[in-house]
Amino acid sequence: MEAADGWLVRVRPPLGQLTATQADMIARAATHFGNGRIELTSRGNLQLRGLSPETAPHFAQALHACGLGGEDASERRRAILLSPLAGLDPACDSHTLPIARALDAHLATADHLSALPAKFVMGVDGGGYVPTGTIRADITARAHDGKWQVACGDARSDCAPDAVPALMLRLAEAFMQVGGNSRPLHHRGIGMAMFAHLGIVARSRDDDGPAPACPTLVGTLPGRCYAVVPPLGRMAAADLSRLARWCASHGAGLLRMTPGRTIILPGQVRAPDVTGFVTDPHDPRLRVVACIGRQGCACTGADVGADALALAPDVPVGVRLHVSGCPKGCANPGRCDLTLVAAATGYDLCRNARAAETPTLRGLDMVGVRALLHEGHASADTPQHQNGEKTPA
Ligand code: SF4
Repeated sequence: MEAADGWLVRVRPPLGQLTATQADMIARAATHFGNGRIELTSRGNLQLRGLSPETAPHFAQALHACGLGGEDASERRRAILLSPLAGLDPACDSHTLPIARALDAHLATADHLSALPAKFVMGVDGGGYVPTGTIRADITARAHDGKWQVACGDARSDCAPDAVPALMLRLAEAFMQVGGNSRPLHHRGIGMAMFAHLGIVARSRDDDGPAPACPTLVGTLPGRCYAVVPPLGRMAAADLSRLARWCASHGAGLLRMTPGRTIILPGQVRAPDVTGFVTDPHDPRLRVVACIGRQGCACTGADVGADALALAPDVPVGVRLHVSGCPKGCANPGRCDLTLVAAATGYDLCRNARAAETPTLRGLDMVGVRALLHEGHASADTPQHQNGEKTPA
């Protein structure tokens, strides 16, 4: 994909997980073939920037050499959002990881599903420390009172754990027959029709409502693991390389990229001796989110990332601030307590809204934004999802 700073390449770690060797290789390739900047997306993918038509094929070869795929159709349809602590947290249902692995294996060979919409995603939500309901997907397997359900749009059906992957696959096939391009995550009414297409009498389910509050995934976590966060989801390739090498010599030698833009380090019980990552759950940088802005997108002249980090210490505890280069709101498609949208003169402000909604204040400069943050005009009344959003993406 072409961006203002060159080609952008996305890498999907299988079920979010990379070996330390793979992470180090990606970091080195980002330096060698790109501009040395790496982003962790809200789906737990890695985005490398600044590649060129000449360097991108070499990067693809390097990826394949360490057992990873690129961004072809097969990789896209294997998009699975997984409970961040699956297989680690003793309170997360023990079937979670086996279901996700089986589903991934099914999707790898399901060429007939390549025509699914680009953002179509499946979820496996095993609950535990990260509570059930934080994973939002088009088709979601969810642990519920020791049993499993498969939910899609406005419908759900109980399912034995070992039958869950096949049912999710059949629902995806049914979507291609009856769903058109309206994803069940956004057009809930098609869920019942998808189950009916399979001859399954599903139960209706209420709108999920706000996602349950998710604990901050930074620092020591249940299941003997440690979590770090790249500020704004961005990291220097050299920092990722150092983190990977540190993991190789401590703990399990694995890095798990999660939908919440967190990197979980299984087997680690202390902070890595590496710079460039948030390790304190009270760090104010965890309260802000921003798109790439003018550093990589031609749609804005604002350096929204720099402004977000500059404003972070002024954002009250419990409030989330989204700074967007334009109304598209790429970094946070859902609602946020406060959203600043770069305009011709300064920032426009939306409260408890998406970036595209009508602002309540216009033309704020940084001084004005700071004053507003200190006047207590912010509110935080909606818990956020694992991907940082307050409504489904
Ligand atoms: S929100 Fe606008 S400025 Fe920011 S990355 Fe998306 S299109 Fe570009």
